[in-house]
Amino acid sequence: MSPKKVELTLAPLQSWFPVPGRIPVIAGPCSAETFEQVMEDAKAIKALGQVGIYRSGVWKPRTRPNSFEGNGVAALEWLQEVQKETGLLTTVEVANTEHVELALKYGVNILWIGARTTVNPFSVQEIADSLKGVDIPVLVKNPINPDLNLWIGALERVHQAGIKKLAAIHRGFNNYESSHFRNSPRWEIPIQLMTQVPNIPVICDPSHITGQRDWVPEVAQKAMNLGMHGLMIETHPDPEHAWSDADQQVTPDRLGEILQKLTIRQQESPDLAMLDTLIQLRRIIDSIDEELLQILAKRLKVIEEIGEHKKDHNITIFQLERWNEILNTRGDLAEKLNLDAEFVKRIMSEIHKESIQIQTDMLNQENIK
Ligand code: PEP
Ligand code: MN
Repeated sequence: MSPKKVELTLAPLQSWFPVPGRIPVIAGPCSAETFEQVMEDAKAIKALGQVGIYRSGVWKPRTRPNSFEGNGVAALEWLQEVQKETGLLTTVEVANTEHVELALKYGVNILWIGARTTVNPFSVQEIADSLKGVDIPVLVKNPINPDLNLWIGALERVHQAGIKKLAAIHRGFNNYESSHFRNSPRWEIPIQLMTQVPNIPVICDPSHITGQRDWVPEVAQKAMNLGMHGLMIETHPDPEHAWSDADQQVTPDRLGEILQKLTIRQQESPDLAMLDTLIQLRRIIDSIDEELLQILAKRLKVIEEIGEHKKDHNITIFQLERWNEILNTRGDLAEKLNLDAEFVKRIMSEIHKESIQIQTDMLNQENIK
């Protein structure tokens, strides 16, 4: 059964999102630290001629207390200067009514709801209620946990408050195991969002997905390949010394290079609606296969560690008891997951064969030395 489509009456992205370059881009620092940092970054971004919206955290959700939590009202005043000096629109994260009221009072152009707020329907509803009767665009980041309905629910709450200028931001999902990204992109989730809410523009935030500036370009490109509608990238004049998210920010110049090198695919939102179901499903398969291979690579790394251990302790590579245990437990799991037991046995045998080969090579190398 295919999931229900959600109808949101939306103003087209082009009607409220300035696009001086090839694609819609939001850029700016993770946090507004000082007036000088905010202005330096904004002027350099403006000079690129490719960014229409300047982002900056004014209230920062930090994991532990006593970290830098934002400059609040002072930073809102700096953003007014940015508007005056550069003509860029501004956007900040809001997490409660007070934030919304202050952001509106200081003329912020666009609001965004952060990933830690989207998880909480009470907070989202509070923000939505404070926006009734206000005409301002709102961007909704995905919740930190991979729950599509929570994300859609937040968009619906804001929409029900009368907001028609709405977009989603894909910033990845908490990793519960080690991954080379700070937040797993789980591409299948924004793809499902685009499938179920076909007219919602989706902006990708490669900065918070990767947590690492060197990986920002590849994730930005992937977002373009998947037909996402824009990018939000964190910039800082001196990224290494940023007061928050120092590892992932890039200089405005570097942002210019990244944007220039991007291949933009023919994919405006009206085309997206024309994509047939098969193509959408294949994208989900691509993303799942990628995850499968990453997990396989992780498994084989552990196999190498076990190989070292066996080598050090002179233990045989093949152990019948362990192999039987694997076959039995995986067979039981296959049944629970409604998978064909024979099929799972074949896959496990192939993986086992490869594992033995890896460990055999390791031990042989030892003999040759
Ligand atoms: C941010 O954009 O700086 C931020 C805090 O993002 P997120 O809500 O995605 O963690
Ligand atoms: Mn940040």
